[in-house]
Amino acid sequence: MAGLVVKGATIVDAHGERPGDIRISEGRIVEVGDVRDATDEHVLAANGRYVVPGLIDCHIHLCYAAGPDPRAMTAKSDAQLAGEAAANARATLLAGVTTARDCGGRGFVETHVRDEIRAGRLEGPTLLTSGHPICRRGGHTSYYGRQTDGPVDCAAAAKEQIAARVEWLKVIATGGITSPNVDPLTAELTEDEIRAVVDEGRRSGKPVAAHAHGGDGIRNALAGGVRSVEHGTFLDEAMMATMVRDRVFLVPTLIATRAMIDAGTAKGVPDYAVRKAAEIDPVRRKSFAECVRRGVPVAMGTDAGTPFNAHGGNAREVALMVEAGMTPAQALAASTVTAAQLLGLEGEEGLVDPGFSANLVILSRNPLDDPAAFQRDLQIVLQAGRVVR
Ligand SMILES: [Zn+2]
Repeated sequence: MAGLVVKGATIVDAHGERPGDIRISEGRIVEVGDVRDATDEHVLAANGRYVVPGLIDCHIHLCYAAGPDPRAMTAKSDAQLAGEAAANARATLLAGVTTARDCGGRGFVETHVRDEIRAGRLEGPTLLTSGHPICRRGGHTSYYGRQTDGPVDCAAAAKEQIAARVEWLKVIATGGITSPNVDPLTAELTEDEIRAVVDEGRRSGKPVAAHAHGGDGIRNALAGGVRSVEHGTFLDEAMMATMVRDRVFLVPTLIATRAMIDAGTAKGVPDYAVRKAAEIDPVRRKSFAECVRRGVPVAMGTDAGTPFNAHGGNAREVALMVEAGMTPAQALAASTVTAAQLLGLEGEEGLVDPGFSANLVILSRNPLDDPAAFQRDLQIVLQAGRVVR
């Protein structure tokens, strides 16, 4: 395949902004700077535009349809879910998300979609998956998650997910918003149960992400050894200090509660979900700002697929993180290089540097001037050097 040279762009990444051309070969960036194009290379003129690393969304659910109630999933067959998940993956990529972590699906549908994308038979981002969320019997996500009874069963649940070739494991440390009859402030899996999953994952090189809103659950998750805290609503100073010390990442998913509040019961979101979202939203925005101030590593994630949080609308999270206390440069880093660190893709994804994959987006506006540029001014998406939008 002939290479590609992107000419005349302003490069914007976590290093800052600089003018430069980019030579791409075999899906990778091979040269950045003043690049002379060879006669056999394609040239993409990007004058006056901004070349930025593709977004990395560390929390999506390809099996969720973004309808009013994710429990609608229970009425669908795996075949139906697979069709929807494939369409959702494509929408995610076309929105400029070139890498994503799925944080829980059913029947390993999302893991099969990952394989089809890798094989080039479906369009979508580079995907890392976690299989079924590992939850307490009757707890949050129990309508599709792997329900467990105690540490021994948690270890068994972890082995089942690993056997299905996931990259991550996901535990449910507290109640959640979208399940009825559970309280986000209440701890669900215990510290011992979470540690059993973490230990099992460690033996296979699979890190663990923890869904956690309430303080008791976050403490259990941190003591149990998770790599990332999802949502992290009631983080306090001691927990933040632990996260800084142990380099545990916060994945804030600010858009998820906003989308539920904005849609409301008028659009069919269950009243318990709207009520819990409204209670949680201001608290998590505050703890997010405090995490940013204290240097907790933050990686972008949207919870895409939850009510009215559409696949393909992921980029709105970048602007919401700025609204909640990040600088545009911090939000860009969280959505690229820091997210790559969380996902174990350091040196591969998230910067416009030689050796990195050519997963890039081209914007007509500088995201450091306007963090909404990812939503409004996205013109071209390059996946491994190939124009997909
Ligand atoms: Zn989620």
